[in-house]
Amino acid sequence: MSGIISFKGLIVVLFALLAPTCLSAQQQRPHSILVLDQSDLRGPFYYQVFAGLRDVVSKHSDRRVTLYSESLDLSRFNGPAYEEALKRYLKEKYQGKPLGTVVGIGAATTELVLKWRDELWPGMPIVFAMIDEADFARLKQKSNATGVIVKIPLADSIQAARAVVPDLDTVALVGDDWNNLVIYRNWNSEIAASTAGLKVIEIIGQKMSEIRKQVAELPDRSAIIYSAVYSDGEDTFYPPATAVKLIAEKANRPIVVAAETFLGPGIGGYVLVPSMIGAEAAKLALRILDGTSVSDIQPVYGGVKPIFDWPQMQRWNVGEASLPEGSEIRFRDPTFIEKYRWQSMAIASAILAQAGLIMFLLHERHLRRNAELESHQRMTELAHVNRQATTGELSSSIAHELNQPLGSILTNAETAELILKSDKPDLGEIREILADIKRDDQRAGEVIRRLRGFLKRTPFETRDIDLNEVMGEAFKFLSVQASARNVALYLQTVPGTLRIKGDPIQLQQVILNLVVNAMDAMATIPYGRTVIGRTELNDGSSVVISISDSGPGIPADKLAQVFDPFFTTKDQGMGIGLSIARTIILAHKGQIWAENQSGGGAAFHFTLPLAA
Ligand code: ADP
Repeated sequence: MSGIISFKGLIVVLFALLAPTCLSAQQQRPHSILVLDQSDLRGPFYYQVFAGLRDVVSKHSDRRVTLYSESLDLSRFNGPAYEEALKRYLKEKYQGKPLGTVVGIGAATTELVLKWRDELWPGMPIVFAMIDEADFARLKQKSNATGVIVKIPLADSIQAARAVVPDLDTVALVGDDWNNLVIYRNWNSEIAASTAGLKVIEIIGQKMSEIRKQVAELPDRSAIIYSAVYSDGEDTFYPPATAVKLIAEKANRPIVVAAETFLGPGIGGYVLVPSMIGAEAAKLALRILDGTSVSDIQPVYGGVKPIFDWPQMQRWNVGEASLPEGSEIRFRDPTFIEKYRWQSMAIASAILAQAGLIMFLLHERHLRRNAELESHQRMTELAHVNRQATTGELSSSIAHELNQPLGSILTNAETAELILKSDKPDLGEIREILADIKRDDQRAGEVIRRLRGFLKRTPFETRDIDLNEVMGEAFKFLSVQASARNVALYLQTVPGTLRIKGDPIQLQQVILNLVVNAMDAMATIPYGRTVIGRTELNDGSSVVISISDSGPGIPADKLAQVFDPFFTTKDQGMGIGLSIARTIILAHKGQIWAENQSGGGAAFHFTLPLAA
């Protein structure tokens, strides 16, 4: 047991001794990076490489990292003396500044960094960016370096040219000597294979004036493939992004380019994306600062993407579908929604709100329809009850109406019997009596038919009817009751017919209710009981029906209430007659109201629209 404990203890002690050493190895690498650019940092390409790098470094979460940067400007200055001067300058400037790693952008810069390392930064891990495969193979021997390799095969640029010009038969290759352009050096060996079947116009290493002349006269089915031009060939130097603009001013064909910063004058292609190159390099540099050994960090390929310029695509009529898979399109016109974001949102919200409102209203309408159907049903039932009650009230006059013809039938039959008993029965007289009997029978049958019709439980149904006729029938029905109650009943209708769309049984019920109410109201007055029914035309589109009486009228404060359900001033009243009358009239799209006449008595009016 004790042996095991002592062995364990030994391991613990060993770890305790080793741990601080490992930690200090990590902490020893200073958190500062020197970035050396091959070209002028103020040119757009190298500026974006540095911006991409700085962006990633600034987001490094563990510790703050100091960035130093220098432009070696090697495309414009070179030679041993210049290199020596640069070395001295860097040595002097950074001797008091501890560095964690040095990043060289471009092959020439990386080469110088590796050459100077032993003297300036012994043992320093180096990160390179934007060097091609050939340079990488050459520099690989130098240990303690990793970085980002970029690769633009000429075949990719040709593929982009074919996407832009579908029936391509000629390519114009424009640029400085590829041997001087690190990224494009490999095109020398690739040109034969990748341009097979195409005519090639080489405009390489020419003066700008010559380039501009030639690109203006290219054949129809051709595209320009631009690598990079760094000067006008007459001692003026500029970034290749400026050169491509000068070329585009004269070019009569689309320009396939190989760097993101050439988009605009260039239509696009497989392009170097400088910010991606800088970002990739920064990620590797940060791993070194955080203590990872450079030998454990494999170099990566990166920084190239198919990107195309939308305005140029429009100009050369290039569809999105013909671009290589995964292509990104830049500078596309913003869609209406992108351009008017808030306005679009407001419009969308308004449409949504409106749609919601419409849904709500439709739902409401559905509910209302249901309610209307239900209320029609109720009204029909209630109206039926009310008709039964009215018929009950009118039973004496109905009995009277029936008794009259039945009585005269009996009298006539008895008379006929007597005549037949005589020796010489007068057949002519008997014929007359039989005709009377037939007429009386028809009269009784008519009363029963009307009563049946009135008491029928029928659903609300409108049809073309003559309102004068409906009024006439109702008044006929009421006549016996009126004379039994000492009421003079008058009917004044407009001449001719009054065509309306309505349910005759229900309209008769309204008239009956109003006349019976009038007769009830006049029960207390000793004489002069009069009810007048009137039909009148109202402005040619509707008709007004009035029932007025000579009763006591309606107390002014009750005028509005009489139509309320269950409002009654009668001992045996139900208070539903007027409420049903109003429901029926409203269902006929009419109006009903009551008023007191100036000369005394109440008057009820209702309107109904005339049939079109
Ligand atoms: P009911 O006849 O069962 O009372 P109605 O709804 O038909 O029910 O009438 C309601 C009330 O309106 C009556 O009780 C009465 O007070 C008043 N009324 C109706 N018609 C007249 C009228 N022509 N003159 C005076 N009052 C009336």
